[in-house]
Amino acid sequence: MIEGNDLKQAKEVEIFGELAKNDHEQLIFCHDSHTGLKAIIGIHSTVLGPALGGTRMWNYTSDTQALHDVLRLARGMTYKAAISGLNLGGGKAVIIGDVQKIKNEALLRRFGKFVESLNGKYVTAEDMNMSPDDMEYIAMETRHVTGLSESIGGGGDPSPVTAYGVYMGMKAAAKKAYGNDSLEGRRIAVQGVGSVGMHLVAYLAKENAKLYVSDFNESRAEAASNKYNFRAVGLDEIYDLDVDIYSPCAMGATINDDTLGRLKCQIIAGAANNQLDDEPLHSKLLMEKGILYAPDFLINAGGLINVGIDYLGGWSKERVNRKTEKIYQTTLDIFDLAGREGISTQEAAMRLAEKRIADIAAIK
Ligand code: NAD
Repeated sequence: MIEGNDLKQAKEVEIFGELAKNDHEQLIFCHDSHTGLKAIIGIHSTVLGPALGGTRMWNYTSDTQALHDVLRLARGMTYKAAISGLNLGGGKAVIIGDVQKIKNEALLRRFGKFVESLNGKYVTAEDMNMSPDDMEYIAMETRHVTGLSESIGGGGDPSPVTAYGVYMGMKAAAKKAYGNDSLEGRRIAVQGVGSVGMHLVAYLAKENAKLYVSDFNESRAEAASNKYNFRAVGLDEIYDLDVDIYSPCAMGATINDDTLGRLKCQIIAGAANNQLDDEPLHSKLLMEKGILYAPDFLINAGGLINVGIDYLGGWSKERVNRKTEKIYQTTLDIFDLAGREGISTQEAAMRLAEKRIADIAAIK
């Protein structure tokens, strides 16, 4: 019997309230005493197809923090897949714990068994703190893994495709802002030359853009500057540069109350996830400031397109590139919709994704 304090405690975690907020379908809590596995799989939507999203391992400070992260990330995947025209829903998984302490073959394979038990309703892939080798362990226990290395028949590293999509989105934004999509001579600030940023810089250098690059890892920035002709800039200096385009390719939330007043660019187009610190507020402020924002979840979807097609079947580099190229037109469509409706480009992108989900749901 539940009574007194027990009842009060039970009410404190409003799991169904959290699910209802953004209409999530399902949460799966995975626990195994032997391996110490504690994981949560979040399924936001399976309307368009299986819920695909990576597994990340993170030392969350509380289970509630892990819960909020998995719900937020799973929902983001629904929108990303929908706007990219993929027949996939949105999901995500988090494994809770310190990577150095908990990660081993048995734990990963146990997690794989949980994924398998969902019979393909959730499809996993690599995310933070998971390596290609880790994914191979998971794949020993389930078929519902994608993004495996090319050496074992997977679609391989998604970063070059992600960079290509960002490049497409950036060119579409240039077309809208300047009337043509050439980036020649455009002053472009790229924040972060990691897996995606480095490939993006290669495209931009080829078009003779004038590049400014910052990277937390100085040796990486130096190696890149030896290869491509650009000016290395300070980590904070990047926000004050007089440039045409700012391209965040490192971490999220760089468009915030502090940076918004400093940015002088006309366009923001980058790879980072969740670039807007406060989505509704900062997308609106960008609009008012006259900065054209290419929504991150659309233009950085190349990696998802790569792993999604890999899972759904019929993967080829050409097919992936063709689908990724469509980001150009979708970005233009979003700018048009935003202009017509007087809404931010982020809002327009979300509406377009929601419309596709509703339209497909109606014919099912
Ligand atoms: P990465 O870790 O390979 O590269 C990130 C780079 O940013 C590193 O070189 C790092 O040193 C640098 N960096 C970190 N903090 C910085 C700072 N304050 N200023 C400047 N540079 C800083 O990551 P990645 O795979 O290239 O991904 C970059 C971003 O794009 C991430 O936000 C990621 O979530 C997002 N993204 C990546 C993919 C993909 O296919 N890899 C797909 C979609 C979205």
